Amino acid sequence: MARRVVVVGAGVYGAAVAAELAVRGVGTTVVEAGAPAGGTSGATFSWTNSCGKKPRSYHDLSVAGMAAHRRLAADVPHSDWYHEGGNLEWAADEPGRAALRRKVAEVLDFGYEARWLDRVEVLRLEPDLNPDRLPDDEIAYFPREGWIEPTRLVGYLLSTAISRGAELVRDDAAAGFGVEGDAITTVLLTSGRRVPVDAVVNCAGPSAARVAELAGLKLAMRNTLGALVYTSPVAVAVSRVIHAPDIHLRPDGAGRLLLHTRSLDAAARDLDTGPGHTHARRDLDEDTLAAVLAAGRALYPALKSATVESTRVGERPIPGDGLPVLGRARALPNFHFAVSHSGATLSLHAATLVADELLGQDHTATLAPFRFERF
Ligand SMILES: Cc1cc2nc3c(=O)[nH]c(=O)nc-3n(C[C@H](O)[C@H](O)[C@H](O)COP(=O)(O)OP(=O)(O)OC[C@H]3O[C@@H](n4cnc5c(N)ncnc54)[C@H](O)[C@@H]3O)c2cc1C
Repeated sequence: MARRVVVVGAGVYGAAVAAELAVRGVGTTVVEAGAPAGGTSGATFSWTNSCGKKPRSYHDLSVAGMAAHRRLAADVPHSDWYHEGGNLEWAADEPGRAALRRKVAEVLDFGYEARWLDRVEVLRLEPDLNPDRLPDDEIAYFPREGWIEPTRLVGYLLSTAISRGAELVRDDAAAGFGVEGDAITTVLLTSGRRVPVDAVVNCAGPSAARVAELAGLKLAMRNTLGALVYTSPVAVAVSRVIHAPDIHLRPDGAGRLLLHTRSLDAAARDLDTGPGHTHARRDLDEDTLAAVLAAGRALYPALKSATVESTRVGERPIPGDGLPVLGRARALPNFHFAVSHSGATLSLHAATLVADELLGQDHTATLAPFRFERF
């Protein structure tokens, strides 16, 4: 059984894997190039969902991810990083409505909770929504969806790991691996430190391909950038995730709202970014930010007094075919992957699967669609 494990990266994946291993008595070292949750996990919409995830295996993994959040929140007092308020979505035109009808039919077919609401019912849930921006009916409601505060979740998970003996090494990076035969024996850090290991878990998010390459493995990734706007605190009743045609938003604690539009992602793409970095407000142009706020105000007039408090740009870690990469590499059996988009949804459950496998449990059937070797 692996006794000394290095987890590369301390985002939601690294923190969840480290907690899973440490509570089972595994000697765990988390190596983080910067600060915990300083990568994508600190710049995410973090909507927990399986709303249109395909194929079925990915849908099931996402539903299990949502259930893992629900369980953890029920087990941990003051775990108010988890918000299961549901999600509302509607479309502006007939092609959009047809696509939403198809999506709702598909998720219902998968046994997922979804129902149609009309404007009056939606205004009971979200009384501050501008009624003029809502259609009469065909507003989809997904009641078991929600959102998380990933930075607080990462803090809880790392603290759990450390209290069980894990070491957190921050501001130092995995820069190379010592390999003997088909096994990694050491992790070489940028600082020059060498950490002897029985196993390694690659939780490097958008940099996962580079970490895999250090081990001689080629992982195809097609990462994209996304930008998010955080408003100043506003006295407005927003209780859930909202997917309106022009804007997506959700609460973000202490009265702030988190806003996202497609134009923000386009603006993010135009930035000169380095992988895994977050960016400050000065990087996004004022016209783009004004348009995002205007779209928010059109939906929730109480946002009249809101200002842009901050923005962040995150890099979505997207494996080549869009699906997660989880579990051990066949050619290097003590090298494990825990990499995906939708990590806010998936990471708790996926971390359990990866840690289980590392410790000898068989999850062959569940992990088969997500193996590195499919590339
Ligand atoms: C705009 C946007 C919106 C999103 N919306 C959602 C959503 O609604 N729902 C959802 O579920 N998901 C969403 N995601 C995706 C989700 O946020 C990510 O899948 C998740 O945060 C990835 O977590 P991670 O731990 O893999 O990566 P990260 O949080 O990036 O963590 C990886 C860490 O590895 C470190 N690292 C990298 N290389 C090394 C090295 N060589 N040595 C040591 N450390 C290293 C980095 O510094 C980083 O801290 C969104 C992402 C973005 C950008």
